[in-house]
Order: sequence, then C-alpha cells, then structure tokens
Amino acid sequence: MAKDPTASSGKRCWLPVDADTSLLALDGSATPGFPGEEASAREQTEVLRTELVELQARLYAESRQRLLVVLQAMDTGGKDGVIRKVFSGVNPLGVKVARFERPTEAELSRDYLWRVHPHVPANGEIVIFNRSHYEDVLVVRVNALVPKARWKLRYDHIREFERMLADEGTTIVKFYLHIDRDEQARRLQARLDDPQRQWKFDPHDLEQRKHWNAYMLAFRDAIVQTDRKCAPWYTIPANRKWYRDWAVMNILVRTLRDMNPRFPAPTIDPATITIT
Ligand code: AMP
Ligand code: MG
Repeated sequence: MAKDPTASSGKRCWLPVDADTSLLALDGSATPGFPGEEASAREQTEVLRTELVELQARLYAESRQRLLVVLQAMDTGGKDGVIRKVFSGVNPLGVKVARFERPTEAELSRDYLWRVHPHVPANGEIVIFNRSHYEDVLVVRVNALVPKARWKLRYDHIREFERMLADEGTTIVKFYLHIDRDEQARRLQARLDDPQRQWKFDPHDLEQRKHWNAYMLAFRDAIVQTDRKCAPWYTIPANRKWYRDWAVMNILVRTLRDMNPRFPAPTIDPATITIT
C-alpha cells in the first residue's frame, strides 16, 4: 500500500484495496477520514484550494518537477466533475488535461502506450489523464478487445512504464473514483431527465453497465497489480461529490507539499537595475 500522505493528521481519506478486496462490497457513500458534515467539507476544500493554487504557481515557476494525475472511474463516476471542481482556480498555463477516448485506427495499429507517452507532463506542469493507459486493462479486458494472453502482460508494462516516468522525475498519483451501481443508475437517469445534460448520455454506457461485476474485478486487479510507492492508487468513495472533491483535493495538496516546489532564486540583483 502507498505511503499515507495524511499520516501527519492521522487520517486516511481513501479505501484500502488488496487482492482479497471485493470492490462490489466497497461502500461508495463512505467518507473515510472525514467525520464532519457536507458544509464543513466544502469549507475545507476551499481552504485547500488556496494552497493548491499557491503550490501549483510555485511548481510552474520552478519548472523542475512534474506531476501526473490519473483519473479512472466507471461512466458517470465523476472524472469530469473532479477536473472542473478540484482544479478550478489553478493557472491554466501550467495545467493540461489529456483525454483518452476510443482509440483511432492510427492508435490501434501501434502498441497501446504509443498514444499515452506524448501527453506526460513536462517540467513545471500538472497533467491530468481523464482515462488513461488503464483502459487497456479495463474496457479492453472486460470486452475481450484483445486476447487475455495479451492484456495480462500489460500490468508488467504499466508498472515499468510508470517506474520509468518516476525514475526520470515525474510524481504520479492515481485515483479510482468508486461509485455503486445504484448511484450510476441515478446519475444516468439524471442525464436523461435534464435537457442540458442529455448530450452526456451515451448508450454505450448501458452496454458497459451490464458488465459491472467484471469491471469491478478488472479495477481491483489493475489497482493491486500497479499500486506502487512511486505510482500509488487512491480508491475514493465517490457517491457523495462533496466528499470526493475534498478527498482528492486533500491528496493532491499533500502530494504537492511533499514535492515542495519553490520560486526560483532571482538571477539578478533588482537593486542594481534601473528601468528607464
Ligand atoms: P468518455 O470518456 O465518456 O467520453 O468515453 C470514452 C470512451 O472511450 C469510454 O467508453 C472508454 O471506455 C473508451 N475507451 C477509452 N480508452 C479505450 C481503449 N484503449 N480501448 C477501447 N475503448 C476505450
Ligand atoms: Mg461518457
């Protein structure tokens, strides 16, 4: 299991997952590490946002470290919501989102990491992967898009790929936003009912929903096989959006505090310069 970034406050704001965990039994409405009410979570999230914005400004100015944030979830699990709500207020110059959809012909005719690598963060950047190379052991496994003999080797590739990124100076955090099947039903229905959200309704999601149990196994295996100190997974109960946002914000802020980015020392002595 990953090092606990909330250890200093004695709180763990995610659910531990190991080889014996059934994700079907994990409570998507849990609020680990947060005993309080929704209102105080929202307040705390705002306090943490101020710190996130400050830390990101330093990361960008320092331009020596990089942060990769991987977001995975079932459809309607809240990936877009986290990007919109947790990252609002940061300087867009230093933050990018890479979205991984169904692969194109060109992508399918190469190895599955080919389309991923060009999007990893450069010095000073935070890059958020909205879906990622993990789809190649999730949707691909559940729908048998390639034979098992091929996808089962990918856990090794992914571990090595992430280790290489980490060895070369990239900090990695991975979030699995966990909702229950019932919660997904409510969210899909809400999309159908709201004319402004109908565009988000994808009939393909209903097909995938039929494979819920297989997805829960695939997520569990992906997490267990690739949870490493250099690329930890955090399983966040995500039925309650206020909790989800607080927990993700919390982990991001603690990760950035550990990176400890600093504004570069000036290379000039301002006292010696006169602007004419
Ligand atoms: P969305 O993120 O809701 O716009 O949907 C993107 C769709 O692309 C989802 O259904 C994903 O499962 C699918 N997708 C992403 N990566 C892959 C992949 N490597 N192979 C097959 N489908 C994928
Ligand atoms: Mg979708």
